[in-house]
Amino acid sequence: MAYTAPRGTVDILPDKSSQWMRLEQLIRTICANYNVKEMRTPIFEHTELFNRAVGDTTDVVTKEMYTFNDKKGRSITLRPEGTAGICRAYVENKMYANAEKLTKVYYLGPMFRYERPQHGRQRQFHQFGVEMLGVESPYVDVECMLMAVTLVETLGIKDITLHINSLGDDESRDAYRKALQDHFRPFLGELCHDCQERFDKNPLRILDCKVDAKHEAMKSAPRTIDYLSENAKAHFDKVCELLDVLGVDYVIDTNLVRGLDYYSHTVFEVISDDPKLGAGATVGGGGRYNGLVEELGGPSTPGIGFAFGMERLLIALEDQATSDDEGIDAYIMPLGDQARDMALQLATVLRANGFTIDMDYVGRGLKGQFKSADRFKAALNIIIGDEEVEGGYVQVRNKKTREQAKVNVDEIVDYMIKYFEG
Ligand code: AMP
Repeated sequence: MAYTAPRGTVDILPDKSSQWMRLEQLIRTICANYNVKEMRTPIFEHTELFNRAVGDTTDVVTKEMYTFNDKKGRSITLRPEGTAGICRAYVENKMYANAEKLTKVYYLGPMFRYERPQHGRQRQFHQFGVEMLGVESPYVDVECMLMAVTLVETLGIKDITLHINSLGDDESRDAYRKALQDHFRPFLGELCHDCQERFDKNPLRILDCKVDAKHEAMKSAPRTIDYLSENAKAHFDKVCELLDVLGVDYVIDTNLVRGLDYYSHTVFEVISDDPKLGAGATVGGGGRYNGLVEELGGPSTPGIGFAFGMERLLIALEDQATSDDEGIDAYIMPLGDQARDMALQLATVLRANGFTIDMDYVGRGLKGQFKSADRFKAALNIIIGDEEVEGGYVQVRNKKTREQAKVNVDEIVDYMIKYFEG
C-alpha cells in the first residue's frame, strides 16, 4: 500500500519552507512593533470549549470539527480556530489580573476543519491571529485593524479593501435579531434546511448562508447598523472617525456578520481582488467579542481580534519569494577518505563559530561537488585533497571572484570571519 497524506493536508517541502519562515518573520516583526507578545496554547482542547465559545449553531462546530474520544473517554477536538484557546488560557491563568489592563497577544500555527478541500482551502491549515483583551476602547479596535492592514500591505498583496460593520452590543443584537426574524418569516419555506434551523437559534447566520446567498430576501434584509443602541453607535462612529483620520480606506459592509458566534460591535474583513486569490477572497478577518471571556467563566472582559489564513497570504506572495533564499557560507569538498575526515572536523569547527556549512559525504569528483555547492549557493568552496591533508591547509575558492587562496587549517576561522566582515 502506498501511503499518502490525508485528504486536505499538504507537506511543506524544504523548497517552500523559506517562504513560510519569511512570512513568520514578518509577522513577528510587525507584532513586535505593536508590542504584541506570542502565546502558545494546545493544539487540542476539550470539545466543550469550542461548543461554548464558537457556538453550537455555527458550521465550524456542527460540521467541521475533528472530534474524538481519548483513551479515558474524554471528548477532545483539534482546534478549528485560535480565539477560544487563547480566552480559555486567559481565564485559567488569571491574566485578567495582570497589572497592565490591555493584554495583547498573537499566535500562529495549524488549525483543523473538516471542509471540502479546494484551492486555498485545506483541512489542516495555518492561521496567524491577534487578540487584544481587557479594554473596550474604539482605539483598540482601530489598532487591531491597522495591524491587519499593515500586514497585508507589507506583504505586497494587491487590491485590498478593509470591510467593516458593527453588530452592536446585546441590546442592539436583540433588536436586530427580532427584525431579521420578522423579515425572513414570510420566506422561511423557501430557505434551505440549515437556514430554517438558524431562524430560531441564530438568525444572523442566515446572512452568511452560501446556499441561499442569491435569494431576494437576502438583498432586502435589514442592516445591523440601523439597530445599534446609542452606545454601540457611538463606538462604531468613533472607529470610523479614527480610520478616517488615519487615512485608512474602508467600506461599511452591512451584510458582514462573520461565521463565528462570539462577535459583537466591530467586525471586519480584509478582502483582496488579487487575481491569484480570486476576486473578493477574504484573506483574514475578525472582530470584537466582549462576551466571550465571561462565557468561559472569567470576569466580564472586552476583547477583539483577527485571524489570517497563512496559506492564502502565501499564495498571494508566490511570485515574490524564493529568489532571496539565502545561500550557505561554505561548501566543503573533500577528495578522498582522509580528506573527508578532515572536512567533517572543519565543518564542526566552522559551524560552532556560527557559519552555515555543508559538505560532501558521498565521495564524488570535483564536478559533482561543485554542482552541489552551486545548488546551495555557497559563497565559498573549501577544497581538500591529499596534498592539503598532508600540509594542514585547504584551498578556499571564492565563488564571486573565482580567486583561490591557500589557507592554513588553524587560520580558517579567522579567514572566514574577515571574509564575511568585508
Ligand atoms: P475564520 O477563522 O473562519 O474567520 O477564518 C479566518 C481566515 O482563515 C480566513 O479568512 C481564511 O484566510 C483562513 N481559513 C479559514 N478556513 C480555512 C481553510 N479550511 N483552509 C485555509 N484557510 C482557511
